[in-house]
Amino acid sequence: MHRVQDASLFRQQAYVNGQWIDGDLGFTQDVINPATNELVACVPQLSESQVHSAISAAQQALAPWQALTAKARQQILLKWHQLILQHSDDLARIMTLEQGKPLAEAQAEVNYGASFIEWFAEEAKRVYGETIPGHQADKRITVIKQAVGVTAAITPWNFPLAMITRKAAPALAAGCSMIVKPAPQTPLTALALAELAHRAGIPNGVFNVVIGEAKKVGQILCESHQVRKLSFTGSTAVGVKLMQQCAPTVKKLSLELGGNAPFIVFNDADIEAAVTGAIQAKFRNAGQTCVCANRIYVQSGIIKQFTSKFVKAVTALNVGDGFDVETDIGPLINQDAVDKAKSHIANALSFNGKVLVGGQPLTDSGHFFAPTVISNCQQNMLVAKEETFGPIAPIFEFDDEAQVIEMANDTDFGLAAYFYANDISLVYRVSEALEFGMVGVNTGLISTEVAPFGGIKSSGIGREGSRHGLDEYLEMKYVCVSI
Ligand code: ADP
Repeated sequence: MHRVQDASLFRQQAYVNGQWIDGDLGFTQDVINPATNELVACVPQLSESQVHSAISAAQQALAPWQALTAKARQQILLKWHQLILQHSDDLARIMTLEQGKPLAEAQAEVNYGASFIEWFAEEAKRVYGETIPGHQADKRITVIKQAVGVTAAITPWNFPLAMITRKAAPALAAGCSMIVKPAPQTPLTALALAELAHRAGIPNGVFNVVIGEAKKVGQILCESHQVRKLSFTGSTAVGVKLMQQCAPTVKKLSLELGGNAPFIVFNDADIEAAVTGAIQAKFRNAGQTCVCANRIYVQSGIIKQFTSKFVKAVTALNVGDGFDVETDIGPLINQDAVDKAKSHIANALSFNGKVLVGGQPLTDSGHFFAPTVISNCQQNMLVAKEETFGPIAPIFEFDDEAQVIEMANDTDFGLAAYFYANDISLVYRVSEALEFGMVGVNTGLISTEVAPFGGIKSSGIGREGSRHGLDEYLEMKYVCVSI
């Protein structure tokens, strides 16, 4: 059942300069299925000199790639896009195998991930410059945009495919080359993407996947003068470290870091719709996304109704192996994730939180955790202060708009926020008052390639997707001609 149809997509070697390579020191790392704890694959850990070679290869590949027209790059990228869709079943299986998410969610991620390639392949044809009226009679001023150069991406395990394409697509479309370091838990999806990039005709060295000890590889990429940009998605703690490491070379940075999304339901909301949205925003990927609803604020007039419908919907969710078609929620990625969920629940209970459903890990093998609803939550609990990254929905009661805005903004993070309401004036007021980079109104799903994804405050720097996502891989150059 788990077998891929095209066996050459199941790669267990790194991909550098168009070649599949093993680690020259012989070190390897295991890839584990989080649903069964079984060994899935063994991939090499590259040595420091191999990571340096990847940077050199990306540097060498840069000039001829940049010299192509945007349309020529578009043609190659569209081929990659097509191949990804053609092999979406295999890619989804590989993803579920190493990451655990339900197969249908993995399929959706393949489509979502592929959409960035199509979008940016098209968008790069429209990298327009500017002409500016000269400041003196004999001066002519133009602004052109050029590829940043060699770029690096460090990506997380929760979206093993889309977090790579969301970075690689704009980079390659703009004329940059890229070295990707995927998360150690999910290298196989990244390597399958590399195989398809190779088949699409992306020239050697333009797209590379290195695997190795995160700290060491990260340090080499950050400290390199040749690497001109780093794009990172992951935890705020690691993002801060990488930012520090990039300071000496004044690297351009994009950081997509942690979130702590509020999900607010006002008295006049459509309660059924809010329940559906809360289920989507909270439990996708078992609660392991940076835009997952972390805190659910419900206005006092409807809290009873909302809570009973929400608990009913949560009770109906099936937890199981992602390959089982009945499964809504797969395992958490590892034991640390299970321990964090447990500690958040214990902490909520110690402050008089009430578990209405779930509340503990399930006893099967793997890292399965019961979808949980906790009522009577307070701002001083860990579930309010930290990103839970698990299937736990804490419900907080509020009385009025000013109070909930203050509660929602009471966090260092500023990635996504959601609210359900119908009063149009309130919709505008709250959208503007929320200190977050993205706001979903009457919807629990906000990710799309056409809109700028990203956060403010400790949630990051820069945007991915939309035309703004391309700017992250372009430098502006102003040319002043004296005639
Ligand atoms: P998580 O805790 O969800 O795994 P991380 O921020 O630790 O999130 O991981 C995201 C990515 O950052 C992964 O690819 C991981 O290997 C990488 N990473 C973790 N620590 C470092 C580090 N010190 N330097 C560079 N990359 C790192």
